[in-house]
Amino acid sequence: MAIAGAGLSGLCLAQYLMRSGIDVHVYERDQSPFVRQQGYRIILDRYGLEALRESLPRPLYRLALATGDEPGGHLRFTDSRLRDAFTINFKVELNATRQVDRATLRSILMTGLEGRVHYGKAAVAVDDLGPAGLRLRFSDGGAVAAHVVVGADGVGSALRAQIMPDADPANTPMAGIYSRSPLLRGGASVIPDALRTSGVLSIADRPGRAFFFTSMRFGENPREAFARVTPGTFAPTGDDYVMWALLLRQEEVPVVARGDLLALRDLAVRNSADFHPLVRRLVGTAELDTTVLNLFATGRRPRQWTVPRATLMGDAVHVMPPFGAHGANTALRDAVLLGRRLAEARASGTPVEEAIVRYQDEMVPYAFRAVDTAAGLMRRLTGTAAAPHWVLTRLLPRLHPVTVPEG
Ligand SMILES: Cc1cc2nc3c(=O)[nH]c(=O)nc-3n(C[C@H](O)[C@H](O)[C@H](O)COP(=O)(O)OP(=O)(O)OC[C@H]3O[C@@H](n4cnc5c(N)ncnc54)[C@H](O)[C@@H]3O)c2cc1C
Repeated sequence: MAIAGAGLSGLCLAQYLMRSGIDVHVYERDQSPFVRQQGYRIILDRYGLEALRESLPRPLYRLALATGDEPGGHLRFTDSRLRDAFTINFKVELNATRQVDRATLRSILMTGLEGRVHYGKAAVAVDDLGPAGLRLRFSDGGAVAAHVVVGADGVGSALRAQIMPDADPANTPMAGIYSRSPLLRGGASVIPDALRTSGVLSIADRPGRAFFFTSMRFGENPREAFARVTPGTFAPTGDDYVMWALLLRQEEVPVVARGDLLALRDLAVRNSADFHPLVRRLVGTAELDTTVLNLFATGRRPRQWTVPRATLMGDAVHVMPPFGAHGANTALRDAVLLGRRLAEARASGTPVEEAIVRYQDEMVPYAFRAVDTAAGLMRRLTGTAAAPHWVLTRLLPRLHPVTVPEG
């Protein structure tokens, strides 16, 4: 079995298949595991947590929970001066929604896959050789034979045009400049106590602009936790941070700025000038090398799958704007569903093509429900419709006391 892409879903599926005794190899385009700084946190919901519980050996699952943030917390919607419009509260239970650091989770998902993840291997195409199986080809001219090929190669999937030819993602008007800033300055938290366990979406006076931030506090420091549970493995980070994103319209991001970290930071500084001073301080202390631009896109429902023993999962199929925190959870859910169907087929002697069709038939409805939800939330929170914007930024904030005094 060959998986293209060692991101969250590719590694999760590899873990699941290994536990089921299925031979699997993962081929990753990057030259090494942590070549790019993807220093953001993700919220794991019950689907993401269930996927990890089912695919990881118990000590690794516990490691993911131990290094994650405390469960529970709040998501606050505020105006640009951080006055509350409304708040969503998350449950405080052992297995409830919680934040984890993406790079730390990825490192945990790699543990035990030594010798099975191959770097510098950018997949470009899959050949159907009939009864002889499939061949996955790489940009370096190499190729591997495989019984099944899974494209887990993310939003820019190189295999999508071939496997799912009628469903390239659609662009949206919105983009996000993501970065992170240290949580502690001089030993003190830069986030006031009132927002300690809150993610905050601060909606600007001007429609089509917002600022999101949340702190990532590691439960147990990953370096110590890794040394305790999996000595010798690499903890990519250990310092608490604030992840933030300035959301703006794509047309406001000049093409020349798109690959230029300094230009992106300057753009974030300029476009956050009207927000609360806390927001401006976060932008001013950003770690430059973690800054990335994400042009939001939405996946399109596939109508045909053209290579019978090849399929796709995660963002390669159903990329969605980052509203509602469903992207990573849906990708992990896919991985376990596909793993389960493949393992069942092997145990029962069912043809693998049938297992893949079952996976696709089950995945498309829930994944595109998540895409629709995320796209709908994006429209409501950043769209130009005057009435919802007025309610969020003018009416509701007047009904609440000031949460974070300016100064
Ligand atoms: C800045 C940012 C913030 C986000 N925040 C959140 C959040 O808070 N919550 C949430 O749920 N989701 C969030 N997401 C989305 C979430 O990260 C994705 O939905 C999730 O990672 C998708 O997993 P995946 O396995 O499909 O793809 P990825 O995790 O993106 O992995 C794809 C992998 O494939 C590799 N690859 C690419 N092309 C090839 C190729 N041709 N051959 C081989 N390998 C290849 C890539 O290098 C990468 O390692 C965020 C995304 C971004 C960019």
